[in-house]
Amino acid sequence: MPSYHDVLWDTYRKLKDTDVSDEAVQILMLELCNMSHNDLFLNYDKEMPEELQKKFDEGVQRLLHNEPLQYILGYQWFYGYKIKVNEEVLIPRYETEELVANVLADSDYYFPDKDVIDIADVGTGSGAIALALKMEEPKFRMCATDISETALTVAEENARDLGVEVAFYQGDMLQPLIDKGIKLDILVSNPPYIPREQEIQKSVDEYEPHVALFGGDDGLKFYRRIFQNAHKVIKDKSFLAFEIGYDEKDAIIEEVKRYFPEDRYEVLKDINKKDRMLFIYHGI
Ligand code: GLN
Repeated sequence: MPSYHDVLWDTYRKLKDTDVSDEAVQILMLELCNMSHNDLFLNYDKEMPEELQKKFDEGVQRLLHNEPLQYILGYQWFYGYKIKVNEEVLIPRYETEELVANVLADSDYYFPDKDVIDIADVGTGSGAIALALKMEEPKFRMCATDISETALTVAEENARDLGVEVAFYQGDMLQPLIDKGIKLDILVSNPPYIPREQEIQKSVDEYEPHVALFGGDDGLKFYRRIFQNAHKVIKDKSFLAFEIGYDEKDAIIEEVKRYFPEDRYEVLKDINKKDRMLFIYHGI
């Protein structure tokens, strides 16, 4: 029977000339075996149980078919929370954790005295943003929308697993909020923003839901739709927080000026120094 070490290094060798990274292979092993790096190091020369080996080999085959590691494992860590994912939902990205962090900071800054803060995550997908925010800030009265029924099933399951209360509404962008007469202190969204013709990584294109990725010809279709109707769902003193594509800053600022001529806005960079977040401050 081969050891953990043998299995791992055999796989590295076999995959040397493929697109699959050693890192993905190692994470697959750690997560399937429920081990930390340290556990793996201590058990390196021990036999790897046959059952685990089989699962690992199956996972490696799926990686070879460009399937994202997170779909193989069935989850992604986001803001320290384990979020279930499948092909019905976009895999939460690390960049998006920064959106969550900034919303929390701004919420503290602008609404320090409020006991209840009304907030919505528009196009929630797996629910990652809504759930992380609600876990971090119990004062949030959180609701979340998505057009995809199957995505909401995943989001609801994640909410149950984390034991938090989020009201999920099926519908197109702001429509469910408008229908219900909901008024928000904070509107958050990471809408689909990739321009239709833009080339994207094979694994993303082949496996992730296109409805969560593509934002029309220039990528800005869904921001425009939100901007157009935002006044129906935001309070007089409120802010809006968006993730944006790294090359969309100038075009999106034009839209902000058009729809929110009186309001202050700010574009923030992510940790990779790419323009990534847009905040619009309405009446505050
Ligand atoms: N950041 C994602 C990607 O580049 C896109 C997410 C989105 O469109 N909101 O794959």
